[in-house]
Amino acid sequence: MATANQRDATISEDWCRRWVSTVRDYAVIGLAPDGTIRTWNAGGEYIHGFSGEEVIGRSFEIFHTPEDRDQGSAAAALERARRMGHAENEGWRLRKDGSLFWANVVITVLRDENDQVLGFGKIVRDMTDKRRAHEAVVESERRFRMLVNGVTDYAIFMLSPEGIITNWNAGARRIKGYNADEIIGSHFSRFYTPEDAQAGLPQRGLSIAAREGRFEAEGWRVRKDGKRFWAHVVIDAIRSDNGELAGFAKITRDITERMEANRLLEETRKALVHSQKMEAVGKLTGGVAHDFNNVLQILRGNLELLDDRHHRDAWTRERLNKALDAVDRGSTLASQLLAFGRQQPLQPVVISLAATLQGVDDLLRRALDETIRVKTVFAADLWNTLIDFHLLENVILNLAINARDAMPQGGELTIELSNAVLDDDDVAPLADVTAGQYVLLAVTDTGTGMSKEVLERAFDPFFTTKPEGKGTGLGLSMAYGFVKQSGGHIEIHSEPDHGTTVKIYLPRSMQPATELARRERVTVTGGTETILVVEDDPKVQSTVIDTLSGLGYRVLKADTAQQALAVLQSGVHVDLLFSDVVMPGPLRSTEMVVEASQLLPKLKVLFTSGYTRDAIIHGGRLDPGVELLGKPYSREQLAHRIRQMLGGRSMLATEPHEPITAAQAGPTLRILFVDDDPNLSDAVKEQLTLLEHLPESTTSPSEALKRLKQQPFDVLITDLTMPEMDGIELAREAVVARPSLCVVFSSGYDMPDLPPLPFRWAALRKPFTFRELDAVLRGFHV
Ligand code: ADP
Ligand code: MG
Repeated sequence: MATANQRDATISEDWCRRWVSTVRDYAVIGLAPDGTIRTWNAGGEYIHGFSGEEVIGRSFEIFHTPEDRDQGSAAAALERARRMGHAENEGWRLRKDGSLFWANVVITVLRDENDQVLGFGKIVRDMTDKRRAHEAVVESERRFRMLVNGVTDYAIFMLSPEGIITNWNAGARRIKGYNADEIIGSHFSRFYTPEDAQAGLPQRGLSIAAREGRFEAEGWRVRKDGKRFWAHVVIDAIRSDNGELAGFAKITRDITERMEANRLLEETRKALVHSQKMEAVGKLTGGVAHDFNNVLQILRGNLELLDDRHHRDAWTRERLNKALDAVDRGSTLASQLLAFGRQQPLQPVVISLAATLQGVDDLLRRALDETIRVKTVFAADLWNTLIDFHLLENVILNLAINARDAMPQGGELTIELSNAVLDDDDVAPLADVTAGQYVLLAVTDTGTGMSKEVLERAFDPFFTTKPEGKGTGLGLSMAYGFVKQSGGHIEIHSEPDHGTTVKIYLPRSMQPATELARRERVTVTGGTETILVVEDDPKVQSTVIDTLSGLGYRVLKADTAQQALAVLQSGVHVDLLFSDVVMPGPLRSTEMVVEASQLLPKLKVLFTSGYTRDAIIHGGRLDPGVELLGKPYSREQLAHRIRQMLGGRSMLATEPHEPITAAQAGPTLRILFVDDDPNLSDAVKEQLTLLEHLPESTTSPSEALKRLKQQPFDVLITDLTMPEMDGIELAREAVVARPSLCVVFSSGYDMPDLPPLPFRWAALRKPFTFRELDAVLRGFHV
């Protein structure tokens, strides 16, 4: 009979056996000391897929992967269990169907009372699901790390609560320039500019992030190489589950480019506004210039009327000449205004500036004083450009005069010519310039330079910093308008005390340069008047005589003042006396002139001298009617001066010189004068009456048409632009009523290119002279 104890043991043994054999979550396997499988349970079947018959008597190595078998891991596990009492490991094991599962294996050594190894107990659990979940976490972490590390557009890194850098990504390396091992462990204030760091900006960012959870800002940061970049920064506080501050995540973006782009955009906008302003002002100015020319016409017309009536005493003549000079100055001004308004009619030709500007330094040297050195630097193989050279020369002269004014102590003026390519980046901030090839003309001085305020307004019309009478404020304005009108670009580089460079970009032309040589393009105007040359040096004398005869003048000569007087006393008509100041002989040149003007009150006198002006200058001024041309002078200068003194802005060789008198006037014409300016009508009407014509005038084109239908007219003189109807339209309608009508268009602008018109017409540019008016009318009778 079994005792109670024995019974308990039997029950528990039985209980154990049942439990082991039925449990499915664990494979519980008994192994012989050599690893042969002795017992098997339901868990073994469930997990490994084998039945007991299939495995009992075989080595447990059958559950191992071939790689494990090669390494003898089964024997190793048993050995470890024998030594340590038990061995635990995890790894891939095979099922019957060849599939793998992740197994947790515990092998325990079983010994008898004598410490002899009886065998091993092995427990296997299928951990595949747990393993997968773990792997997924690891994988997602790996991917996240890859993502953060791989991001190169953002610097992403972490800071300790104190601001020490704890990790670093590729973007951080790219943007800030440091490798991870150089920077981890440093304080992040390293990236700030010294000024910002000193001002406590880094600490403030952390405090705000710690307090509010997040801090965002933009500012300058410093790369490893010391360069600055404009950064967008976000700092996020990171807190553990219990709310404790674990550190900060910092994301920095380099937005220098975006900021640059914004700046560029803003600049472009400003440039556009400026260029629109200039254009608008230009239109206004052009309009003003037009009205201004009308005003000048009234002045000139009335002055010429006076001139014709007065008693020709020297005093009156001087006053009238001064007034007429002022009218000329006014029309120069008006033409500058027109240039600024881009309304100057251009006569561009294809030229190579290098060839055409040859000798410009000489020209400038003469225009400036000798304290200024003039240098030219012309690049070889210069491209051609299409430009109105005459106006360009004016621009250069204006720039040179500005340079002179900026160098009162003297200095250097450099004219440079080169080829230039403006690319998209260059023209991006400029409102109205296209990328492409240009010829660059740069005029540089070593003068005072301009302040920012002056620079901003330098192109504005009438902006000048010069005292009254010295500056008109139109030099740069006309340069601007002209260059724009020519499809080019002009800019000024200037800094106070560092001189000024004005750069003019003129579009390249692919056409061959026009053959016109510069000399031929400068129009030297001559005339047919009679000039008496008084000069004691025979060589100088013969040169002057040749020059003047070459210009078409009748030339008489005298070697001394006395001889000259004798010529005049002989009764020959002389228009102008061109005389040296200092000559040998008993009669001084100045005395000769006094006597000569008594003989011929209208005689003009031009002195020339290489010496002091004292002989002819009294109280700092020349005597009335006397002018001086300093030696040496060019042919152009001489021609120009003489033409100026003899009058006539564009005197034609055939133009009559004598004042127009009734006897010389052509046949009487019935003339209708139409101009919306009533003051102008009065003056012109009076001039026409003086010319023995029968003028009528009106300010209204429709009134003009009415009169044309009612009564006969020979000539219609009409303004080109009038509010009611333009002159061409009026003329077209007028010739329907009067088919034989001749038309004169007058305009303050230069004449536009007109299409062929079905009637006889001529053009008169305001302000026109009495003679020009007469010449045009005579033209209709030949
Ligand atoms: P103006 O010469 O009649 O004053 P501009 O239009 O030629 O008119 O020039 C306008 C202003 O620009 C000048 O008054 C001067 O202040 C400034 N300026 C022009 N050129 C220069 C220069 N080369 N150096 C310094 N300042 C200059
Ligand atoms: Mg100027």
